[in-house]
Amino acid sequence: MTPLKALQQYFGYDQFRHQQEAIIRRLLDGGDAMVLMPTGGGKSICYQLPAVLMDGLTIVISPLIALMKDQVDALNVNGIPAAYLNSTQSNGEQTDIVNRLKVGQIKLLYLAPERLFKTGNRLTEFLQSLKVSLIAIDEAHCISHWGHDFRPEYLMLAGLKDAFPKIPVIALTATADQLTRKDILEKLALHEPAEFVSSFNRANISYTVAPKKNSYDKLMTFLDSHKDDSGIIYCLSRQSTETLAEQLKAEGFLAEAYHAGLSNEIKAKNQEAFVRDEVKIVVATIAFGMGINKSNVRWVVHYDLPKNIEGYYQETGRAGRDGLPSEALLFFSAGDANKLQRFAQVEDNPEQTAIMLKKLNDMVRYCQLTTCRRQYLLNYFNEPFPDRCGSCDVCLTERETFDGTLIAQKALSAVTRVKERFGAGYVIDLLRGANNAKMFEEHKQLKTYGAGADISKADWQRYLRELISLGFLKTSDGMYPVLMLTEKSEAVLKGWQKVELTLSAVTEEAQHETPQH
Ligand code: ADP
Ligand code: ZN
Repeated sequence: MTPLKALQQYFGYDQFRHQQEAIIRRLLDGGDAMVLMPTGGGKSICYQLPAVLMDGLTIVISPLIALMKDQVDALNVNGIPAAYLNSTQSNGEQTDIVNRLKVGQIKLLYLAPERLFKTGNRLTEFLQSLKVSLIAIDEAHCISHWGHDFRPEYLMLAGLKDAFPKIPVIALTATADQLTRKDILEKLALHEPAEFVSSFNRANISYTVAPKKNSYDKLMTFLDSHKDDSGIIYCLSRQSTETLAEQLKAEGFLAEAYHAGLSNEIKAKNQEAFVRDEVKIVVATIAFGMGINKSNVRWVVHYDLPKNIEGYYQETGRAGRDGLPSEALLFFSAGDANKLQRFAQVEDNPEQTAIMLKKLNDMVRYCQLTTCRRQYLLNYFNEPFPDRCGSCDVCLTERETFDGTLIAQKALSAVTRVKERFGAGYVIDLLRGANNAKMFEEHKQLKTYGAGADISKADWQRYLRELISLGFLKTSDGMYPVLMLTEKSEAVLKGWQKVELTLSAVTEEAQHETPQH
């Protein structure tokens, strides 16, 4: 049977989406593959279909026991014999599945990673005695510290290629930046893996960032325009999910909280009610969402700042899986950035701390963009995108610009004069000719000292951020970011390049603060 025939016969779809067909061919040819596809893109078919076509067993590693049952049920409904083995089953049930495996009655077997490599567990040996044709690792980013959802038990999968040296392996994830991708490939020791990266653009989701001030009132206004829609509100702490859920209930909304501290029963109940539209709003920590198959989520609000772009993109990606227009709204404050900066400290691990801080810094930059947010997001995942999407808040806001070349030159030359060793606060003080105790005497002698005294501090902050957005300046990563030049700076300093800056329109509070140190 051809892959296309199998797609039609077993899954009822007319044609392949994204790179599904190429991925499937790669596996049928016996090669390893790494697949990056956005949530809802159709990753499952990439291993379920080869499982049907190959003779033998496909092992699927999946992190969430709670989801295995749904997936297995769905396969069985489609006439594909599938099963899972996990700790929720009785001994009798497990024995039954083992017996069916022995006689080759099962095509797909779902397992949690720890199950496969538990010491003293004979399961691996047993599986080695069977004809295994393919191994799929779902949510493969969980193997990497650099991913946004590291799970230590995934590290056990490092032994996979040793245990099953000849079997093709497919690793799948919806979110992984370059570093995480590299880490996945190394940790799994994939053999000459082919990488399949689908476009991450979620064209039907529009992105907006609002200052986190009076955010409750702003949320009410937002919800007013989404009366019957389902949505998710992400908060940083368990406590705040409960508080906000209570507030919303008091206002008459069908809202429930969801976080890892709730009992499994309550979690399952709230999740199911949401899927069945009996609850319209889930107020959740990041514990909520992975694998939730609800296509009509119309909006996602981040009430607090997410820790990194991967998590943010994954969470916003839960909106609009049905392809209809959906919204992502994030409330940003510098205070949140400072708080997360403290959380990012990993004890005795400066390397990891540095990476977490860099990711946080990238997240903060996203919130402060004066250029298209979609472009930034896609570039973050190494995907080129034209200048403007036309549907994020930045693109939709009419901008009046002016020739800011002189302002840019002053800023860039100040950064040059202080040898790229000072943060935005100091550079602004220098430009404004501040005479405070922090100001070095030698800097008071510079030509740029006081050269921008006619511009307010708030405007300077805005201009510097815009210069960063435009790529004429950048910041170092770490606790105390300093301003640095880029490869685009020289042209401005030499007067070869004009710089358009945004005329100060709404100078809105939090949006215009930079994190304090
Ligand atoms: P992911 O795991 O990437 O989030 P799924 O595998 O759950 O996505 O697929 C998302 C939805 O798209 C599912 O409802 C699936 O049945 C559907 N789907 C997958 N491939 C195709 C296809 N080729 N044509 C139409 N629908 C598809
Ligand atoms: Zn845009």
